[in-house]
Amino acid sequence: MRTRQIVLASRPLGMPTADNLRFEEKVIEDLKDGEVLLKSWFISVDPYMRGRMNESKSYAKPYQVDEPFRGSIVARVVESKSKLFSADDLVVGDLPWMTYITTSAENLRKIDPVIAHPGYYLGILGMPGLTAFFGMKDIGKPRAGETVVVSGAAGAVGLVAGQIALLNGCKVTGITGSDEKCKMLKSEFGFNEVINYKTEKNIRKALRAVCTDGVDIYFDNVGGDITMGAIDNLNFHSRIIVCGQISQYNNTRFSMVPDILPRVLTRSILIKGFIVRNYGDRYDEGYAWLTEKVKSSELKYKQTIVKGFDKLPETFLGLFSGINQGKLMVEAE
Ligand code: NAP
Repeated sequence: MRTRQIVLASRPLGMPTADNLRFEEKVIEDLKDGEVLLKSWFISVDPYMRGRMNESKSYAKPYQVDEPFRGSIVARVVESKSKLFSADDLVVGDLPWMTYITTSAENLRKIDPVIAHPGYYLGILGMPGLTAFFGMKDIGKPRAGETVVVSGAAGAVGLVAGQIALLNGCKVTGITGSDEKCKMLKSEFGFNEVINYKTEKNIRKALRAVCTDGVDIYFDNVGGDITMGAIDNLNFHSRIIVCGQISQYNNTRFSMVPDILPRVLTRSILIKGFIVRNYGDRYDEGYAWLTEKVKSSELKYKQTIVKGFDKLPETFLGLFSGINQGKLMVEAE
């Protein structure tokens, strides 16, 4: 049997292009005991994949040149030589970008499409949802009446982070990159205020205008100038949750921005970076809470699904121009 796969063709310098990825076909081996044959259905594209295209060591292992990209995939079991799964089960796991995959049945999680659309297990009921849950609840610790700002607010993590703060009785401002996304945040997700950072040149002033009591929690998904604007509005004993820095991922040089530290000192600001994997031993708690809130419709979600395995490279690159509302993924078909 043959499968199609997408490999890293070369390492990018700065913004990646489709040429950094390559399609290939290969024969897949027969199943061994304990393995399953999967057909990919929904394939997640995530900002952290950009970091894995670099050679440098980070929290996630670099992709190797000529080896497949990998990440979270929802797949259907076609054939099973494992007691854990049967044909037709739907599973999610960290898997290579292939149309058909043979893999060990270990480390796959069965998913229930009755609870939610299968794509949700790549988003609100997957890694991005857990990220928002632990970042907001464990680091932000939102209290009723506080003012919360979320950057990257209309994305996979941001939508959940903002809604968790709303559920805790906070006033939430979302920052995102289009009027359409701003409208969605307010009308569909109940955000109190929104800022389009692409049309609003002075984020510091714009935040000051809408966050009249200052900012108690800043959930940072993007870094750069947006974050500098947020920091200027932070209150005493406020918290910065450093979740992502997507505006910096394609930079070839990094600044260490020590000039924020006097403000961190004089306003007793807590600034904490985190990786969702830090909470690996508490995933069940996160999944249970998110599943309950999705079932009860207290948390809503949005997905942008691009059809066709061939569209994976351009869809991944679309993360950096903001083509998505909510979780971005490809339906392999
Ligand atoms: P996402 O928000 O669904 O997609 C990325 C979004 O970032 C785009 O839609 C775009 O929206 C925005 N963006 C792109 N370039 C930008 C720029 N230069 N300045 C400002 N915004 C920009 O992605 P996600 O999966 O939810 O991830 C959000 C962030 O969290 C990323 O930084 C990611 O690396 C991080 N993350 C961290 C962890 C962790 O464990 N710490 C886990 C998951 C994700 P606009 O239209 O708003 O520009």
